[in-house]
Amino acid sequence: MDEQRARVNDDLRGVLGGDVLFEPLRRAPYAHDASLYEADPLGVVVPGRVEDVVNTLRYAAENGIPVHPRGAASGVSGGAIGPGLVVDLSRHFRRVVEIQADRVVVQAGVVLGELNARLAPLGRRVGVDPPGAGVATVGGMIGVDAVGPSSIRHGSFGDAVERLRVVFANGETAELGRELWPTFDEEGIDYKGVVLRKLGVLVRRHQDLLTRDPRVGRSGYALAKAATGVGVHLPRLLSGAYGTLGVVTEATIKTVPVAAAQVAVLLPFARLVDAASASAGVPGPGSSLSACELFDWRLIRLAREANPKFRDWIDDTAEAVLIALFEGDDPAEVSARGSAFAAKVSRGGRLSADPVTVNRRADCDLMIGLRAAVEPLLMRLGGNARPTTLFEEVSVPPERLAELIQRLQVLMRDENVSWVVDAHAAQGRLHPRPFLDLSDPSDGSRLHDLAAAVQEAVMDLGGTAGGGGLVNPLGTPFARKQFGDLLPVYREVKLAFDPMNLLNPGAIVGDEGSPSARRLRLPSGEPPIEDLFPAGNGSGEVSTPSTWDLPTLSGSGEVAAGPIFLPVLRWQGAGPVATSSACNGCGTCRGADPSMRMCPTFRALRSEEATPRAKANLIRQIANGDLDPKLWGSEEFKRHADLCVHCNLCATECPSGVDVSSLMLEAKAAYVENHGLSPSEWAASRVEVWGGLASRFPILANATLGSRPGRWLLERLLGLSRLRRLPRAHRWSFTSRAARLGLTRPRPQEPGPRVAYFVDTYANHFDQELAESVVAVLRHAGVNVYVPARQRDSGMAALVAGDVEHSRDLALANLRVLGDAVRDGYTVVCSEPTAALMIRQEYLKLTDDLDAALVAENTLDIGQYLTGLADRGAFPEPQPLKGRVGYHQPCHLRALDIGTPGLDLIRRIPELNVEYIDRGCSGMAGTFGLQRDNFRTSLRAGRGLLSRLRDDDIELGASECSACRLQMQQGSKKRTLHPIKLLCMSYGLSPSLRRRWKDRKVSAIDPS
Ligand SMILES: Cc1cc2nc3c(=O)[nH]c(=O)nc-3n(C[C@H](O)[C@H](O)[C@H](O)COP(=O)(O)OP(=O)(O)OC[C@H]3O[C@@H](n4cnc5c(N)ncnc54)[C@H](O)[C@@H]3O)c2cc1C
Ligand code: SF4
Ligand code: SF4
Repeated sequence: MDEQRARVNDDLRGVLGGDVLFEPLRRAPYAHDASLYEADPLGVVVPGRVEDVVNTLRYAAENGIPVHPRGAASGVSGGAIGPGLVVDLSRHFRRVVEIQADRVVVQAGVVLGELNARLAPLGRRVGVDPPGAGVATVGGMIGVDAVGPSSIRHGSFGDAVERLRVVFANGETAELGRELWPTFDEEGIDYKGVVLRKLGVLVRRHQDLLTRDPRVGRSGYALAKAATGVGVHLPRLLSGAYGTLGVVTEATIKTVPVAAAQVAVLLPFARLVDAASASAGVPGPGSSLSACELFDWRLIRLAREANPKFRDWIDDTAEAVLIALFEGDDPAEVSARGSAFAAKVSRGGRLSADPVTVNRRADCDLMIGLRAAVEPLLMRLGGNARPTTLFEEVSVPPERLAELIQRLQVLMRDENVSWVVDAHAAQGRLHPRPFLDLSDPSDGSRLHDLAAAVQEAVMDLGGTAGGGGLVNPLGTPFARKQFGDLLPVYREVKLAFDPMNLLNPGAIVGDEGSPSARRLRLPSGEPPIEDLFPAGNGSGEVSTPSTWDLPTLSGSGEVAAGPIFLPVLRWQGAGPVATSSACNGCGTCRGADPSMRMCPTFRALRSEEATPRAKANLIRQIANGDLDPKLWGSEEFKRHADLCVHCNLCATECPSGVDVSSLMLEAKAAYVENHGLSPSEWAASRVEVWGGLASRFPILANATLGSRPGRWLLERLLGLSRLRRLPRAHRWSFTSRAARLGLTRPRPQEPGPRVAYFVDTYANHFDQELAESVVAVLRHAGVNVYVPARQRDSGMAALVAGDVEHSRDLALANLRVLGDAVRDGYTVVCSEPTAALMIRQEYLKLTDDLDAALVAENTLDIGQYLTGLADRGAFPEPQPLKGRVGYHQPCHLRALDIGTPGLDLIRRIPELNVEYIDRGCSGMAGTFGLQRDNFRTSLRAGRGLLSRLRDDDIELGASECSACRLQMQQGSKKRTLHPIKLLCMSYGLSPSLRRRWKDRKVSAIDPS
């Protein structure tokens, strides 16, 4: 750490209660946001209380240090990054202070989606609905004056803000509302009074200019909107100020009723321009129109791919669609409005097919939210070129939208650039995104020219290019052109609040004369992967390159010295550096929406460094030379890698499909290469050894696991939490019993479809009842079951500990036996989702053994296999079983992307009442929650699921994953079973299970 950093770090640590992050790896996650830019901050403060914000700003003012307020950093203009002190309010400022009848008081870090979830039972919500509501914070939405589809009805976020508590640039706090101008002789007694006085003079002096303010969009300060002859609405002025006027700590926001009735109308057009023209004729304000969105041909093609509903709704000849949403309290009236609108547009004769109307809320939400549905597919389109946000948005008067689109079409064609566009059409707000490959210097240099050309087109039509687009390094020239005579006025506004220009300097008004401290966040490339991994020789040995020269492209302008990374996994297509560079910083992985799982550790800790975004970018930052290459394989890096529990969900849920799990496996492996395994990691990675010992010496094992001193000893020696309830050991392993029953001998000559059962360690040593149930159910369905005797542990525990070599050995051992079985016509079936995931996905990364692909293609989860039988009519109907069950889908089953076959199966059991508790991860994450240091975090991460499971109306839990079941039992005190056991009971195949069916009590150590 350099001298200045060290001094500021020491000073701040002395006065702050929150986190102070100055070390390179701790501040690196704050160097980027969802914009195209990055900036290495001096340091990061994560305040715990308002006093910490006050002390930080006071210190910054005394020392002339810039401050950058930060929420979820999902803004696309670079407003949440900068070279000074980043102040992250997203972690600790998350309290909903008060919910009143028509307003709420919330802290700045509250996420809009979570707030709306709290308001939903009261029939209310915040009016504005920006697409990133599941992630964006109240402070950030005030910062950018966020808009969404429904802004046509509810305005921008700033229109809903009534009062603010802020900390000014000098550290003084104030409560802001609608304020009167001070009289001439009134001296400002506090900072707010002084600001008001300066603003009053300014407004009087520039009255003319302000009344002529041509702003149609959100760029610049909203002075014309906020100020009147008698006073100024300061919260309105701070909305859209990008943190340049004060740091918001608390806000009072108006809420609106959730409409009782809604209708969405989709109109397909043969030409984009026709759709834009039609949007000019939508009913105006005061009608029940709540949103009017326009999407181009690329987005609708992707929508048809993403969801079959869009295939039904959008005719395949459509080149653009306009989607209008009408809402109100009277269903008949809302429906009539929708029909009238559709009829009016149809009369224009430019539709390519008939309009489509839906009125169920879920359908309306899906239809109007088309952009969110297609974003992941858009970001995963092949090639290096990505849709690139030049400006947060461009706005023109709505009646000129078609003209603008025509101009942009010509511009992009002349520039030979593909682009994608969507618009909040009735408001004239457009998001044009050219496809650019910023790792290609020629595309990088086009960025500025393209942005200038877009701005010119927009301004010619009386519009603004911005939102906060002017925060970025395009900065000053764009600001000058955009604001003209208003620029000096805006600069005076800024100086009235922040005379030393310390709050987010450069944002809004540019930085005259000084180069921007933000630079383009350039992706890193890497040598083609085939050069790194010569074709496999079939021996199972992985050829690892002896060196891996990094590319010359570097974010810092310097060339990183290679070799740094020696990948131990087999990367298909993009390698680790390119994979990490695929993160566009969107922040979706900060979401806590229950319909998504990514990312369990972020959800538990709520810190930026726990996000997949942070983890992915550390690798890019090392490759770019922004971080010291020596950090790779270090203890510090390992601490970050340990924040990944390898649920594998970012690979499927992240819009760009960034496989952070594999990146962090590389990081852990590099650590193990340098430092070896710690005793607790060694213990965690050898579950098979422990399982074997427990089955040999069950009395000793159970005495140890069941006694306080025993558990204390395990915690001291192996890091296993003494508070964790662990399963009971049995006298025999399932495979040894299977051998006695003759199941370990393949009998291909016998009738029935052939299945090789991969048992895995838990069912083999601790839950033999499960393994027996699997065999019983399969046989009941007429399946020819074989249990390969020489199968080993799946290897996941070793892999996540970073012991790639051991995991690979296990993979190769399993592939030997499973490969033979598959060649004999057997389908491999797993009752443990983690084992299925290992075999289907991870073995392919561990080895180039020729059997890896063969076995992967022929391996299924047991539920998936049985639903396949059911589809073919070969599955016996279950018999009634009375009970109320809460089902949890494990993360690894979700990562397999096969739906919920286990749930579907138990829902077939008559009289069994099954609820799907879709409330996120159980928090156990394999062996993560077993460890002493993670025990409480793991229970916290599973809170959503566990609290529902504890409710009286649920009698039992169900889940396929053994680790999730342990957590569910411990967290709810309710017996939790694998769905196969429920099926087994329903068929009456297991009298012992049936006997225990009514026994809901869970003992300290219990195998269920
Ligand atoms: C795919 C995608 C689509 C998007 N679509 C839209 C859209 O349609 N409409 C829209 O409005 N936005 C959109 N955004 C941008 C973004 O989601 C919003 O701007 C969001 O409101 C930002 O919230 P945040 O918490 O992430 O703020 P941040 O990005 O953290 O901050 C945004 C600005 O607010 C300032 N700020 C943050 N907290 C405070 C505070 N407490 N006090 C003072 N200033 C503060 C920051 O300094 C920064 O200048 C989109 C983003 C993405 C990635
Ligand atoms: S990891 Fe994925 S979801 Fe997270 S910021 Fe990056 S691209 Fe977005
Ligand atoms: S694999 Fe899971 S735990 Fe790891 S970063 Fe991705 S979502 Fe988070």
